[in-house]
Amino acid sequence: MNPKKQSINRRTALKTIGATGLGACLCGGCRTAPVTKRRQLMLMPEGQELALGSEAYQETISSEPASQNTRLSQMVNRVGQRIAAVSNRNDYQWEFRLIGSQTQNAFCLPGGKVAIYEGILPVCQDEAGLAVVMSHEIAHALARHGGERMSQNMAVNGVKMVAEKLVGTYAADKKEILMKAYGVGSKYGVLLPYSRRQESEADHIGLNLMAQAGYDPTVAPDFWTRFGSLKAEGQQPEFLSTHPADQRRAADLLKLMDESKTLYAGAKQKFGRGEELFRA
Ligand SMILES: [Zn+2]
Repeated sequence: MNPKKQSINRRTALKTIGATGLGACLCGGCRTAPVTKRRQLMLMPEGQELALGSEAYQETISSEPASQNTRLSQMVNRVGQRIAAVSNRNDYQWEFRLIGSQTQNAFCLPGGKVAIYEGILPVCQDEAGLAVVMSHEIAHALARHGGERMSQNMAVNGVKMVAEKLVGTYAADKKEILMKAYGVGSKYGVLLPYSRRQESEADHIGLNLMAQAGYDPTVAPDFWTRFGSLKAEGQQPEFLSTHPADQRRAADLLKLMDESKTLYAGAKQKFGRGEELFRA
């Protein structure tokens, strides 16, 4: 979707949300994002989001090969478990999977279902770089950014969706939208980029998570600069289509560094940059 059309759609969504906002808030349709405490429109029940997330994850791992690299798979699991331990979501059924594909992508579905593609690992360089990607993706799930975007769509397309529900096409559509919303690969066509606000929020939450998990947060701005330069070299990784990396992102992360360094200082264990992903 072109940015202009997207911005018009967002404005329309906001107008609709404005009109229905009070009703939605009164019936529990709002929530507060973790860390930033931003108010979010949330019309989708979390239970439904978790069920769809689990289904979408099963579908992904049954259609994509698991990595044959035991050492790297264990690293993904280790980094993921450390982030999960500081996420305050013990109720999630966390799973971390390294997928044996050169696609440059990563995602976390609601409920803590995390997939990393081998293709993104060279950009990560070390465990801390991997922690940047994983904590950022986990942050999108913790803040329910996919559910928020679906709620905004519901507010705009409410009447249409109710009509579709009546003819029974809605459940399958919803899983497809959720997969697009959480950046699960291009099987269903164009991925939905996160909004700028959601991206900044995931950066903030993610930075705090990696610091609390014991990884050096100063690695994050460098990672995004490195990742952004791939685009300049003519590559367009899938991950970049949903998470545009630009100079503003790195600059915003630097502003959050004091807070994350304090959290890092208080981490139970410190791993610094951890192990190199690929030995020389
Ligand atoms: Zn993102």
